[in-house]
Amino acid sequence: MSTPLRFQVLSTDTETSARLGRAVTRHGGFDTPAFMPVGTQGTIKGILPDVVKGTGAQVILANTYHLMLRPGERVVADLGDLHRFMAWDGPILTDSGGFQVFSLADINRITDDGVAFKSHVDGSIVHLTPARSMEVQNALGADIIMAFDECPPSTAPREYQVTAVNRTLRWAELCLAAHRRPADQSLFGIVQGGLDPELRAMCAQRLAALDFPGYAIGGLAVGEGFEAMTQVLRFTAPLLPPAKPKYLMGVGFPRDIVAAVAAGVDMFDCVLPTRNGRNAYAFTAAGPLRLRNSRFARDTGPIEDGCDCYACRNFTRGAIRHYFFASEMLGPILVSVHNLRFYQRLMSDIRRAIGAGTFGAFTRQDPRCSLGPAAAVGPPAGGRNGDAPRDLEEGPEE
Ligand SMILES: [Zn+2]
Repeated sequence: MSTPLRFQVLSTDTETSARLGRAVTRHGGFDTPAFMPVGTQGTIKGILPDVVKGTGAQVILANTYHLMLRPGERVVADLGDLHRFMAWDGPILTDSGGFQVFSLADINRITDDGVAFKSHVDGSIVHLTPARSMEVQNALGADIIMAFDECPPSTAPREYQVTAVNRTLRWAELCLAAHRRPADQSLFGIVQGGLDPELRAMCAQRLAALDFPGYAIGGLAVGEGFEAMTQVLRFTAPLLPPAKPKYLMGVGFPRDIVAAVAAGVDMFDCVLPTRNGRNAYAFTAAGPLRLRNSRFARDTGPIEDGCDCYACRNFTRGAIRHYFFASEMLGPILVSVHNLRFYQRLMSDIRRAIGAGTFGAFTRQDPRCSLGPAAAVGPPAGGRNGDAPRDLEEGPEE
């Protein structure tokens, strides 16, 4: 069967497993390594699609879990499809809903058939199964869709990891069988297995035999720490078919992305640039800025010197600080735009370095490559900031 995704590796790094590539979908292409901004509820919070595009984003992500509960996938389909709904004519990826069900939902029951959970929208009991996840994602119409997987915490006991991997493998086959639009949408398989090399290898090999058009590495960045995550990636990524794109779900800080690129990962998504942006946390090469800090009150400089984003070209740190204290929407919007541009510029510099054969030197010399959560000031990245503007923080966590 022909796949609606064409992926080409254009060059590989000499020192690491990093690779430069290009993926083309029926809604256009994207360069890899790629970073996908997250549009949880069918919108990148507060940012107009043209502005998202202007930051350099070529592909974006939306969440199956949230859209199936509200407004419902049939509503999105009846309004056109997800591209029309989000006013984004480029490539879109939807996740399977698995991660949100296992991390956010009030789970009623997990069986070999799927998961029953309580909807946070109306309290009803919702069943999510491999076939149902495919039905929802087929209706939404994203270019890349994900197999429904079980995501245990990486610290879960081995017996649970074994059960989860076996379920994930069975569910991957059920997803392939239930996928009704293989000529339009590319279904990626997801490797689970926690921190156990044996389970990761078994899962990767069995999924590779199913010949998915792409593969994700799931179950990482869930509290295992940077070293453990890097170890799993270095071990798992080479076990996946080299001609297919590899996607690390939900990662992460610049340091994490750089390490994963070095391990051969091609695609990333994370809520950090937008969620932190809404909390006045700006990424800069010199480390994070907390723009509510009083030292910025009369600061006439941009968020980051030399940044070409809309916020930095037009606004002072002092004005942006004021918008946060006055609960003005523009504060969260401007810092989100800056952070999205920061991430996209990092990705384009990573791609340039791989293409030039200098990625190893880039990772050692560029200060952005060491930015991780340890450098963060204030609440942890995934946490909620109590004084965040509430009107932009509605709904469950992404
Ligand atoms: Zn900027």
